[in-house]
Amino acid sequence: MRSLISILDFSVLELDGLLKTAKDIIANPAKYAEKCKGKKLATLFFEPSTRTRLSFEAAMYELGGNVIGFSSAGSSSASKGESVADTAKVISCYADIIAMRHPLEGAPYVASRNASIPVINAGDGGHNHPTQTLADLLTIYREKGGFDGLTVGFCGDLKYGRTVHSLIEALSRYKNVKIVLISPDELKLPSYIKRDVIEKHGMAFEETKDLESAMAKLDVLYMTRVQRERFADLDQYERLKDSYILTAEKMKKAAENMIVLHPLPRVNEISVKIDEDKRAKYFEQVANGKYMRMALILKLLEEAEKSKAREAVDLKGRLLNKLVCKNPRCITTTEQELDQIFRPVDEAAGVYRCIYCERKETLN
Ligand code: ASP
Repeated sequence: MRSLISILDFSVLELDGLLKTAKDIIANPAKYAEKCKGKKLATLFFEPSTRTRLSFEAAMYELGGNVIGFSSAGSSSASKGESVADTAKVISCYADIIAMRHPLEGAPYVASRNASIPVINAGDGGHNHPTQTLADLLTIYREKGGFDGLTVGFCGDLKYGRTVHSLIEALSRYKNVKIVLISPDELKLPSYIKRDVIEKHGMAFEETKDLESAMAKLDVLYMTRVQRERFADLDQYERLKDSYILTAEKMKKAAENMIVLHPLPRVNEISVKIDEDKRAKYFEQVANGKYMRMALILKLLEEAEKSKAREAVDLKGRLLNKLVCKNPRCITTTEQELDQIFRPVDEAAGVYRCIYCERKETLN
């Protein structure tokens, strides 16, 4: 059964296919108006969301399907202590496809292993947010005509910003993409993404704290919000929250055809004055998100028709129950009977990564 948990679950060819379908939906909406007639999407949102949940709902309605679900953990059986695995099994009896958001990293992955219908990760903690990436990709594609050779700046909370992690993963598949990482020291990109994605794919990258000096070289500037909800220390959040504010003054340093993206919600990172600048594309990004989610739902439902089998975890080369993940935001902290599964990073040195949240642990 095909799901979308990480953007890397799809090949570049498949991403191209989604972009093509989305463009066709934009051009011929009537052709798609009944494609999901009789199908149900379950939106399981254990963490608040406006745009993503409504975007999924609008996408399903525009395909002629129906939507069931909940929008906070308090209104689900999670408040009674139900596991993610059980929720996934139960919902499989009611719906044809699931979109899940969860504060714990790896939760949608666990759901996908237990559901008999496709699961879409709609954001898991500070880990991944692949459908935002689909929105980002369509926006870049429509504005720039492709991805090869672009210089993309990521600014703000690169540590907890899951949309940043997923977009960097996606861009690593294209040719000669350069990344400029702009953040304070405390909010730098996690080392596993630097090592396993950027360095592994030989992507050119630089790190800086200075947004202004980076502006001129960018084709795309991806602004982000400092993720208040992921901070254990709120004083630190207060100190960092206004690290970067994009102003009209700073935009003067950017190229005429640079575009500004933001996964939204915006707090203070982009002055509202910039909304009038033709380079501001964050509201177009929202519309593009809906089209890509429509394309994604169609693809996964089509594939589900072909394969009804649940996917077993492939344990080849994995370490089973020999290490314990210490990430307090990992789904293994609450799913009591979940196996602790790790993939090797450097076997000789005993270094492994949790397959749910990707935290690095070392065997002693
Ligand atoms: N909406 C995005 C997310 O869910 C970005 C954000 O919340 O800052 O990750």
